[in-house]
Amino acid sequence: MAGRYGGGQGRRHGGGGGRGGRRPEPEPIRGVRDDARLSSELLAMDGGSYGRYKSLKGDWDFGDFTLTVQHAQSDPFAPPSRVRVLVRDAGIPESAWADPVRRRATADYLGRRARRLLKGSLLKIDTGGQEVIERSSCQVTEGGIDLRIGVDLPGRGRRIDGRAAERELCGTVPDLVDGLDWEEIDSAEAVAFADSVADTVALRSGLEGRGLVAFVADGAVLPRRSGVSDQPMAGGAVPFDSPASLRVSVDLPHRGTVTGMGVPEGITLIVGGGFHGKSTLLHALERGVYDHIPGDGRELVVTRTDAVKIRAEEGRRVERTDVSPFVRGLPTGADTGDFRTENASGSTSQAANICEAVEIGSRTLLVDEDSTATNLMIRDERMQALVHGDREPLVPFIDLVRPLRRDHGVSTVLVMGGSGDYFDVADHVVMLDAYHPHDVTDRARKLARERSDADFARPRPRVVDPASVDDTTARGRGRIKRRDMDVLVFGEHDVDVRSVEQFVDPGQITGAGLALRALVRGGHLDGTRTLSEALDSLERRLAEDGVTVLGTEFGGDYALPRRYEIAAVLNRLRALRVAELR
Ligand code: ADP
Ligand code: MG
Repeated sequence: MAGRYGGGQGRRHGGGGGRGGRRPEPEPIRGVRDDARLSSELLAMDGGSYGRYKSLKGDWDFGDFTLTVQHAQSDPFAPPSRVRVLVRDAGIPESAWADPVRRRATADYLGRRARRLLKGSLLKIDTGGQEVIERSSCQVTEGGIDLRIGVDLPGRGRRIDGRAAERELCGTVPDLVDGLDWEEIDSAEAVAFADSVADTVALRSGLEGRGLVAFVADGAVLPRRSGVSDQPMAGGAVPFDSPASLRVSVDLPHRGTVTGMGVPEGITLIVGGGFHGKSTLLHALERGVYDHIPGDGRELVVTRTDAVKIRAEEGRRVERTDVSPFVRGLPTGADTGDFRTENASGSTSQAANICEAVEIGSRTLLVDEDSTATNLMIRDERMQALVHGDREPLVPFIDLVRPLRRDHGVSTVLVMGGSGDYFDVADHVVMLDAYHPHDVTDRARKLARERSDADFARPRPRVVDPASVDDTTARGRGRIKRRDMDVLVFGEHDVDVRSVEQFVDPGQITGAGLALRALVRGGHLDGTRTLSEALDSLERRLAEDGVTVLGTEFGGDYALPRRYEIAAVLNRLRALRVAELR
C-alpha cells in the first residue's frame, strides 16, 4: 500500500532517520480529490505537524490539469517535495510538437517560461543553461504539457503553514498552467526558438554529407563572459570570420543561407600564440554537439554528434581497456591489450580515454594541448636518441593520428601551440591571430617532415558484467545523485566526473547515473552484448520513448546525456567489472 504513491524513491530522502525511529506515514487523503478539496485540506492542516503533508500524496484533479504530489518532504529542511503537473491540452499546435526536434525545443522554451513565471514562489523548475537538452522537468505531449516541479512546502518551525501551501498549490500552480497556454505565450517567439534549434540540427546533420566534422558560422560569438559563466562575452568579442579557403555556404530551412568555416574530416590543427583564442574555439566545438539557445552566439557552431573531448586524467580507474595501440610493454609486464589500473598516469589515462571513445563509435576526437599528457602527444628526436624505443612503452598520438583516420575513419581536431611536430601529419592548419582564423596549411606543409606511422588496431570491444553495475547494494540503497558538476553518487560509489568535459548540464550527470541503472534494469547490458551494443539498445529506447524512460518515478531532475558521457561514467565506476574482451 505505502509503495503505491511514493514508489521506492521517497525513501531515499529519509536516510538519516534510522530504522526504529520512523513514524508511520499518514494515509493519503481519501474520497473526492479535486482542487476545492485540496484547498480545504491545506487550510485545515494549518498549524498541524509537518509530517501530515505526506497525506497529500497522489493525484488531485484540477479539471484542466492533474496535480500529483509524488513526494512530500518530511521536514522543512529536507530536499524539496516533488509535484507533477499534467496539462492535457495547452493549445500547443501540432506544428510545435509533431517533429521530435521541435517538440524538444518547444518544451525547453516552455520550461524557461515556467521558470520566469515561478520566480518568487516556493516552486522551482529545472531548466537548461545555454544548451537545449531534453529534460525530465518539462515535456511536451500531444498538445499538452507534463511538468515536474520541486516545491518547498512551507512551515513555521515543525508546523504546517497551510495558508502559504494553499496559495502555492492552489494559486501559483493554476496561474502557471494558464501562463503556459499557447494563447498566453508569445507564440512567435516560441516558433522562432524552435526554428533556430531546427536550423542547428539541420546544419549538424548535413556535416557528414559535406565531409566536415564541424562548422563555425561567420559572425558567431565564441568567447564566454568568464571562466564560470557560459553566457556570451558581454562586449569586445571578435566575431568569427572564416578564412576564405575553408568557407562553405549552407542553406538552412528557416534562416536561409549561412556561411562559415567548415572543419574538414581528417586531421586539423589549430595553432597560434598564447591567448589568441585557440582553446575558446575548441571549447565551442566541444559544445557544438549540443544545440544552443537563440542569442547564445553559438547557435550555428556545430560538431558531429560523435565528437569526444580527449584529455589526460591522472588517477582515474581503467577496467580492462585495450590500450595496446598506445602502450606496448609496461615495466610491470602488464598486458596492455587488457589493461586495468586503479590509478592511471596522465598518459595511460589519455590513452584509455581515446580507446574507450573509439570502442563505442566516436569518429571525431577533440584535443587541447592545455589538458594533455605531453609524453602521449609527442616524442622528439633528442628524447628518442636518449631513451631508446625498447625502453619507452608509449607510442605517441602523433604516430597514430593518421592510422586512426586512414584505417578507422576517425578525425582529430587538435589545438597545439607549443610544438610544430604535428605539421607532419596535419591535413589542415588553422592559425588564430588575435581571434581571427587564417588557413596556414601551405606554410605549415613547407615546414613538415617525413614521418612514419605506427599501427592502430581497433580496441577490443568489452562485455560488461551487469551485476557489477548495481546501485542497490545494502550500503548503496539505490542512491543516484549529483554533487555539483564534480561527482555522481551511484549507489555506494562516488564517480569523479570533473574531467568529463562534455557534461554541460548538471541534469545530464544525474541522467547518466539513471542511464547506468536503465542499462542494467532494462536488460540492455545483458552480459552478452558489448558495451557499444548495449548503448545502441538504450539509445533506441530513448529515441522512441524520450528521456523519462530513465526514471518516471525518480524524485529529482535530470537531462539527457550522450552515449559517450554514459560510458564515461561507467568506465570511471570503481565497481565496474568487464567480463570479457571480444
Ligand atoms: P589560447 O588557448 O589561444 O591561449 P584562449 O582561447 O584561452 O586562448 O583565449 C584567451 C582569452 O581570449 C580568453 O579570455 C578568451 O575569453 C578571450 N577570447 C577568445 N576568443 C575571443 C574572441 N573571439 N573575442 C574576444 N576575446 C576572445
Ligand atoms: Mg589554450
